[in-house]
Amino acid sequence: MRITNKHGVPETIVRAVQDDEYDKGDSVLSVTQLISPPRIVILQSVNQHNLEVDVVNRVPALLGTAVHKILEKGSKDLPHYHLEERLFDVVRGWKISGAVDVQIDNGDGTWDINDYKITSVYSVQSDKPEWEQQLNCYAYLAYKNHGRRLRSLKIVAILRDWVRKQAELKPDYPQSQIAVVDIPLWTFEEQEAFVEGRVLLHQAAQKAVDSGEPLVYCTDEERWVRGETWALMKEGRKSAVKLYDNQEDATRAAKELGESIGLNPGHYVEHRHGSPIRCAGNYCLVAGYCRQWQRSLVQGSGDGSG
Ligand code: SF4
Repeated sequence: MRITNKHGVPETIVRAVQDDEYDKGDSVLSVTQLISPPRIVILQSVNQHNLEVDVVNRVPALLGTAVHKILEKGSKDLPHYHLEERLFDVVRGWKISGAVDVQIDNGDGTWDINDYKITSVYSVQSDKPEWEQQLNCYAYLAYKNHGRRLRSLKIVAILRDWVRKQAELKPDYPQSQIAVVDIPLWTFEEQEAFVEGRVLLHQAAQKAVDSGEPLVYCTDEERWVRGETWALMKEGRKSAVKLYDNQEDATRAAKELGESIGLNPGHYVEHRHGSPIRCAGNYCLVAGYCRQWQRSLVQGSGDGSG
C-alpha cells in the first residue's frame, strides 16, 4: 500500500507511518480481518499494490502504536502481565491469528484480557459489537493455545475527545479520560461457533471469487448505514407528513390515516435508504475498487443498494 502525503506533514510522521510494525505472521486471516466483511478483506488483498492512503488517515493507527509503547513501559517488572502475544489456530484448514495486547495471570488459574484503544467518547457510550467479537476471539485463541480460562475481558479506552466540563455537568458522561469497559465473555462453545462461522463466510467469499462468481455484497450493518427512514407521504404533497425509523409504524400510521378519512386514503409509505457511512466517509480503503459502492454512486442513490 502506498502512503501519500497530500497535506505536507513533517517527514518524521510520514516515516513513522511507513514503519508499520503490523505483522499477522503466516496466518490467512488476523482477528481484525476475521470480524471484517469478507468483501473488504478480499478487495484489499486483490488490490493491495494499487491501494493508497494518505498519511493523515493513518494517525489513529500511529497513536495506537504509541499507546502500545506506553503499555510496554508501564508493564515492566509485572511478570503476570503478558504483552502482545500473537496466538494462532487452524480452523477449517485456515490459519487464523490475533495479537492480544495484555493477558493478565490472576494466579488462581484464571486470566484477564485487556485491549487498549484510543477512541471517542461516543464509542464507549454506544454498542460496539466488534469489540465484543474481537475480545472473544482472543479469549478463544488464549484457550486453544494455552488452555487459559478467562475471567474477564476489558477495553481500556483512552478518550481522545474527552472534555472535563462535560464530565462535571453530566453524570452519564465518562468521568475520566481513561474509561475501562467490561466486555461480555461468551462461553467457549459460543466463541468456537462464532470463529468457525466467520471462517466459513470468508472461505465462501474466496471460493466464489476463485470460481469467477460475483463477490458477496456488504450488508447494511457492515456498511454502517445510518439514517434509514420510512416517510409517511400524502398524494399531492412533496414533503413527508412524518418520518419513521421503522416500516411497521409508518405503515400503521398510513393505514390509520386512510381509515380516518374514508374511501380516499391518499397516504402511502416511501422507503428512504440511509447513508452508508463506511463507504462514503473515507473509512473503507477499497471504496474506489468496490463495484457495490461505485455502482450506487453512478445510479445516484449513494446508498450502496445498487
Ligand atoms: S465501499 Fe462499502 S460496500 Fe464496498 S467494500 Fe467498502 S464497506 Fe463494503
